[in-house]
Amino acid sequence: MGRYEILKLVGEGSFGWVYQAIDNYTSQFVAIKQLKPNGDPSACEPEILALQNLEHPNIVSLKGVEHQDDDVFFIFEYMEGSLGDLINERRSRRIPFSEAEIRSLSRQVLQGLEFMHHQRGFMHRDLKPENLLVNNGVIKISDLGTATEIDCGDQFHHHYVTTRWYRAPEMLFRAFVKHERLRPFEYDEKVDMWAMGTIIAELFLMWPLFKGDDAPDQLYKICHVIGAPTWDSWTEGMFLATFMKMPKLGPENGVGLRALMPYASESAIDLIESLCSWDPSKRPSAKEALQHPFFKRGQNVDAPPGFSYCTHTRNNVVPKMTELSTMQPILGAY
Ligand code: ADP
Ligand code: MG
Repeated sequence: MGRYEILKLVGEGSFGWVYQAIDNYTSQFVAIKQLKPNGDPSACEPEILALQNLEHPNIVSLKGVEHQDDDVFFIFEYMEGSLGDLINERRSRRIPFSEAEIRSLSRQVLQGLEFMHHQRGFMHRDLKPENLLVNNGVIKISDLGTATEIDCGDQFHHHYVTTRWYRAPEMLFRAFVKHERLRPFEYDEKVDMWAMGTIIAELFLMWPLFKGDDAPDQLYKICHVIGAPTWDSWTEGMFLATFMKMPKLGPENGVGLRALMPYASESAIDLIESLCSWDPSKRPSAKEALQHPFFKRGQNVDAPPGFSYCTHTRNNVVPKMTELSTMQPILGAY
């Protein structure tokens, strides 16, 4: 570890600490993730396995793993900050994302997901702005601590992995399962596609789309926007909800995404709506999402998204901040 000089703490998560450091051999910045003491060193094995399988320009790259006494350190390429930091910075400076920026960021994340899901057979399970890292206009999927193989033999993956606001309904439904033997909600990589829909919406709103306090409240907030599921929109979910005698989830008719983001294009709304489908089988795969008309528009005008500067190109429609601020009371009210 003498090779690295720690500069500052850049993040603290459930697992441990992340430091910015300089690699004295290469003179490059690196990020060092240290597992918390008392943490089980074998707990990071799935993360190492996933990272070793997932080398892609839109997935953060692991440069090495170091051991010192009982501590384990992951050495990563250094990234400027998370998408969560970028959203906060833009919100505090009152600079919304242009649609071209949103397109560029979402396309890159979908490319990483396409590789992860379809070429490597892994799913992430905890996609959220804090786990997407940004550097010079490039965005990468990080924090593979919860990633697992889609067909790992355990058809009934744990239900609590994803951060609630980005958690797919089929995972939320499992909170209602009372009997150990009744394990109806297996899930797959489509949980990442749901999260992707909520993240794209957050880039338009500068605020999480569904901000629930617990699993029932999360489902209620989803219903408030997209309306409760029906036998048509999610047959399997309705069947199981009836079987499990689940209480009414929330309003039958939602306010709709358009009411929340009047400045977004038709294709953006359509993409988010399809990603946030109740029925996982109706959500597009990462590959299909990349073919969506949203990504066909203005391909040459993508502005590089980044910190502390804003390059709204002429042809981008940018919501006025006054429009955004009128959104906040609506968002706060549900
Ligand atoms: P946890 O499993 O504890 O959530 P993460 O891997 O998500 O750990 O890291 C926590 C935070 O540390 C991230 O949200 C980010 O702010 C920062 N971080 C993680 N990896 C890097 C990196 N490669 N470069 C810069 N910052 C990072
Ligand atoms: Mg994290």
